Parts: sequence; C-alpha cells; structure tokens
Amino acid sequence: MFNQLKHYNMNTAIKRNPLLSTNNAKTIKGEKLGYMTYILYMSPFTQNSKGINVCSHASKGCADSCLVGSGFGGMYTNVMQGRVNKTEYFLRDRVGFLFQLKGEIEKAIAKNKDKAIVTFRLNGTSDLPYEKYKVFDGGKNIFEMFPDVQFYDYTKNYLRFDKVLPSNYHLTFSRSETNHEKSIELLKRGVNVAMVFDKLPSTFEGFEVINADLDDLRFLDKKGVVCGLKYKKMTGKGGAEKNKVAFESGFVLRTQESKEQAVRKAA
Ligand code: SF4
Repeated sequence: MFNQLKHYNMNTAIKRNPLLSTNNAKTIKGEKLGYMTYILYMSPFTQNSKGINVCSHASKGCADSCLVGSGFGGMYTNVMQGRVNKTEYFLRDRVGFLFQLKGEIEKAIAKNKDKAIVTFRLNGTSDLPYEKYKVFDGGKNIFEMFPDVQFYDYTKNYLRFDKVLPSNYHLTFSRSETNHEKSIELLKRGVNVAMVFDKLPSTFEGFEVINADLDDLRFLDKKGVVCGLKYKKMTGKGGAEKNKVAFESGFVLRTQESKEQAVRKAA
C-alpha cells in the first residue's frame, strides 16, 4: 500500500482549492430527498508527508479497502492529489484550514437557501475529532458556529461516544474486524453501527439491519440499528487480492454460505 505514496507530491506549496465537494454517488441519492450534502475528502490513514494517521482507529482491513476503493491503489489523478493537498494543508495550518472550511460552509448555506437542506460530512475519508478543534469565537468548534445545520460522520473511534457531542453532529460507529465487541456494546447503548456484509440480512445478532446504501443521510436513521452496507468488490490491479483480504480478515461479514462451505456440508 505504502509504495503508492510515490505517485503523489506531498511537498508542494499548499494550494487553497475548495475543501468541500458535492459530486458523489451517495450524495446524489440524498438530493432526491431534498438534501444537498457537502463532503470533505482527505487522503486517508497515513497518506501524507508526515505519515500522521488521520484515522486513529483504522484497521488493516478498512485502510486497505479504503485506500484502494477511494482510488489510492490506482493511477495518479488530480482528484487524489487534491485529497493529499487538503491533508497537507490541515496538518500544516489547522487554524487556516478550519477558517477556510467555515467560509465554504457559509457560502454553501447561502447558495442553497430555499433550494435544499444542506448537510456536511467532514470526514469523507478521514476520522478526525472536529468537535475538539475549538478555534472560533473564543472557543467554539465548527459545529457550534452553525447550530442550525446538520453535520454527520462515520467513525471508528469509540472514544468519541464517551463525551457529549454537539446536538447538530450525528456520528455512526463503523465496525471493522478489530472492533466487533465495541460495535455490539455501542448498539446496546443505542448508537447506530455501520457494518459491511456480503449480502444484507434483516437482523444481525438481534439488531435490526437497515439498508444504508439507499442514501448517506445517517442522521435520519432510527436509533440502535445496524446500518448495513453491501461490500463492493474491487476491480482492477490488485483488486482480487484486496477482496480476499477484506473477507478473510473479517472486515466483511459473511451472511451467505460460500460454495466451498456448501459443498463441505453436503459431503
Ligand atoms: S477509518 Fe474510515 S476513512 Fe480511515 S481508512 Fe478506515 S475506512 Fe478509510
């Protein structure tokens, strides 16, 4: 995975390009429901010049599939370079980054006034505790600057649920092969947990499973449910190997019997 770093220029002067974007298959589904979702995509995990992990609780399975799935296992592209640039910007000038973000949120709200309900997901491909970055107005975080706006994210950092989150920030816990027990514990506490399956079941370990592939508007989900996501098999170079790891590591939950298991059972 790490040899992919050479494709990206980590040391260019930071470009002040927009941080937020809207063009994404999942957000388009939300648009049909009247929501305009802006997402901030960084380069995940340790894909930056400092090797700082912007996903503190990532597992091997999620990091591998995230890096490949979001294009980092593929060819050099402007989109990927843009994500690296944003991460470099954040790591070098967090306050400047957050103030630019605030400005973009203000513009997005104004642009969509009377047209759509705006929502923001700041951790598209990162897992940063934005609630802790209190740089505005003598100690407010970005969520407190926009109390009437809905923000949401997925996280693998269970510690974020131990503190009271801003009321306009919805977090869904994200299961991996290394935090299954935490996932069940959080479900019991009424926290929603996203899980990746080969095929969505209707219930899992006694909890209702909803289809989270229909849209990305997690803050509309009822409480205490599993947000089921179907594993999207990777194609292209290295895809088969990564798919194998995703299943064998336990990152993807199997609900379907494999052909080999069926044959073994029948024998
Ligand atoms: S924690 Fe989330 S964003 Fe980070 S590598 Fe894993 S799946 Fe990707």
